[in-house]
Amino acid sequence: MDFDVDLFVIGAGSGGVRAARFSAEFGARVAIAEKNSLGGTCVNVGCIPKKLFAYSATYADEFKNAAGFGWSSNYLSFNWNKLIENKNLEIKRLNNIYRSLLEKSGVILYEEHARFIDSNTVIVGNKKIRAANILISTGSWPFVPNISGIENSITSNEIFFLPKLPKHMIIVGGGYIAVEFASIFKNLNVRISQIYRGSIFLRGFDQSVREHLRDEFLIKGIDLHFNTDITRIEKHSNDLLYVYLKNGEKIETNSILYATGRRPMLDELGLENTNVILDHHGFVQVNDFNQTSDPTIFAIGDVTGHSRLTPVAIAEGSALAKKLFNQKDYHPVDYNFIPTAVFSIPNVATIGYTEKEARNKGYEVSIFESKFKPLKLSLTNNIEKTLVKIIVNKHTDKVLGCHMVGPYAGEILQGISIAIKMGATKKDFDDTMAIHPTLAEEFVCLRTIGQ
Ligand code: NDP
Repeated sequence: MDFDVDLFVIGAGSGGVRAARFSAEFGARVAIAEKNSLGGTCVNVGCIPKKLFAYSATYADEFKNAAGFGWSSNYLSFNWNKLIENKNLEIKRLNNIYRSLLEKSGVILYEEHARFIDSNTVIVGNKKIRAANILISTGSWPFVPNISGIENSITSNEIFFLPKLPKHMIIVGGGYIAVEFASIFKNLNVRISQIYRGSIFLRGFDQSVREHLRDEFLIKGIDLHFNTDITRIEKHSNDLLYVYLKNGEKIETNSILYATGRRPMLDELGLENTNVILDHHGFVQVNDFNQTSDPTIFAIGDVTGHSRLTPVAIAEGSALAKKLFNQKDYHPVDYNFIPTAVFSIPNVATIGYTEKEARNKGYEVSIFESKFKPLKLSLTNNIEKTLVKIIVNKHTDKVLGCHMVGPYAGEILQGISIAIKMGATKKDFDDTMAIHPTLAEEFVCLRTIGQ
């Protein structure tokens, strides 16, 4: 059959761009369509701007802590619009990098919506393109529940462009985005009420981590409402919303951020013209090498609902490009022991099993856990504590999970995750010389079994 391209990619986020670039560099003829900004959620309304906000918010603590180390200043002030302006410039720079990466590898870019006509054809604008393979990398989109007044709330799509900081914000949800923004905005002097339907946030994380972060949030003065949910929202005036909770409470607020999960972005994609099958949550079903039930169509990243993390989408994009156009270098994505961090303040980072998961899987475990005040806070009034926890298989001594809540947790766990992937034992940790004095040394100095 005569095709215009060997691969057509729909969605130029982290995964789609990686698949397109690598495929083109392997010699394939590749085109990509993106109707929004290049780089997808991560670059535009996700990881990158969120981390910039988190850095900004962390300075608030640094300035306060500096007093104990002899510094004083009467001139501290925070300018939200400056942060947004600088963030926007940085994101624009990254958008341009994505563009030049695509151009340099010879990928044809269509800055338009693409839609399936059949399993090998898409329409972009008014141009029909025949492709030997088509990749869906359209990512995900915030999900909000359908309650009365929900139109008065915002999501993570809008939070990065707020014209001004509200005095009070309600944050709904108990996942990554909710805890990140609750602590970021609290540090930026916004009063925060967080509402979560479960008994404690960060479901799926280790219980010690969840409890530790809850306690730190309470110390920060975040107003936590667990075991409840919003039943309706009433707009009182442009700047004042009344929020009614299941438990009968009413909260007055200026802004409501819904962070209640993300749904696969498949709107207007024309999937009905293909044989692609969705799972019962609406995510695209794929096999081990990201092929859908329609053999010429593939899907990677958030749209498959696997691990909705940028590095996973990138790994899937690389693997798919190799599978299709450079078979000799292909190896499947390894989904075991994926490290992850929540950029709340303090950070959470984790790799491997939680204590509960390890026990549920039938492992007999030894738990090593330490809570301590970091040296960096010793001369300050800051009572924040850091938590480190290791879960060890009692019989083989293998480390099954490492968890941390504290500054630089993401940076520290990234290093430790190499050891865990390589099958490190607790003895390997113990035999590793500490770098003293650091926060990270705690991981190689844990001697006492907790339980
Ligand atoms: P999460 O899936 O992490 O959390 C969603 C939260 O919303 C949960 O607490 C969930 O409760 C709650 N929720 C879901 N539906 C409802 C509802 N109808 N009413 C009330 N509450 C509800 O989603 P996020 O939106 O925080 O993030 C999406 C994904 O993006 C994450 O899972 C993660 O993979 C990725 N991400 C990664 C980041 C990182 O790596 N640092 C940062 C941000 C996002 P319950 O627990 O009861 O289900």
